[in-house]
Amino acid sequence: MDRIWIAGPCAAESREQVLTTAEQLVMCAHNNNIPLHYYRAGVWKVRSAPDSFAGAGEVALVWLQEVQQHYGIPVCTEVMNAEQVELCAKHDIHNVWIGARTAVNPIDVQQIADAVRHSDFTVMVKNPMIPDLKLWMGNIERFRKADIRQVMAIHRGFPDAKENVYRNAPLWHIPIDLKVLLPELPILCDPSHLCGQVRLIPEIAQLAMNYGFNGLMTECHYQPAQALSDTEQQLSPKEWATLISQLDLRTDGSDLELLKQRTVLENIDHQISELLYQRMKTVDEIADIKRKNHIAVVQPQQWQQVVQRYMKHTEDTAYQNFIEQFLELLHQSSINRQK
Ligand code: PEP
Ligand code: MN
Repeated sequence: MDRIWIAGPCAAESREQVLTTAEQLVMCAHNNNIPLHYYRAGVWKVRSAPDSFAGAGEVALVWLQEVQQHYGIPVCTEVMNAEQVELCAKHDIHNVWIGARTAVNPIDVQQIADAVRHSDFTVMVKNPMIPDLKLWMGNIERFRKADIRQVMAIHRGFPDAKENVYRNAPLWHIPIDLKVLLPELPILCDPSHLCGQVRLIPEIAQLAMNYGFNGLMTECHYQPAQALSDTEQQLSPKEWATLISQLDLRTDGSDLELLKQRTVLENIDHQISELLYQRMKTVDEIADIKRKNHIAVVQPQQWQQVVQRYMKHTEDTAYQNFIEQFLELLHQSSINRQK
């Protein structure tokens, strides 16, 4: 399977920044024999804080057009309304993406779909901020119904207050469900917005490849530390080339149902590990209370209740044996901690 590689800065900040990043990316891609399929840059940025850099606006379309003409690489940018689609078309930019914030509002998405109707635009639809597969699929369908031939999906993760590793929770089962339901739709991963920090990107990018994603959209800036937005998650062009050339692109060959169940299992393991860790911390707190109130560490009747709670799910004796051993270990380790 040929993968699609998209890279470029979070935002177009200045002509110099757009052109220098493009020049270095093209060079690194060439030196490492990597095709750069699209150059990305946000021209209009949706920011949470009102004083944050909101993008250079229309003038940045001229800089992107220069990149497109000079290097012959198609450029893409985010659009939030019909007017921005018109401006892109005016500058000969025919590749756009729908951002995660716009993607929560079907009325806005429909307005954009109407603006690109029957055109040769390529439209990439990011997952909405909320983990709602039907909403994501509905947005994709709006562009297909508008006769857009090249529609792609981009998985960028989902904001989740409980997530404490990634900027956005991966929830892999959602894009994999999308693959099961729309097998012919290319799905890319955006490891930059998912991870929120450079350090985490390689592992997520590799996982996306293992799961059969069709490519990556990665944020890349020639001076990441000076970036006016998303400073922590932008790679330098060199780092980008290293990332792509070190990916193991062997597809895993398993069918989608199996892949989906595997990601469900990974999510369960993630939760079990969180719960076990929280259990251990709670055991420590209980030990404190017991010590203060001179209560015995072991209370046999209470432990019996715990055992019954675990056994109630099944009569399967092999499973019950496993639970017995597992609980024994759990019990012993909490007694040891409390002592
Ligand atoms: C972006 O790609 O620049 C962007 C803002 O992404 P998202 O909509 O996924 O937050
Ligand atoms: Mn960004």
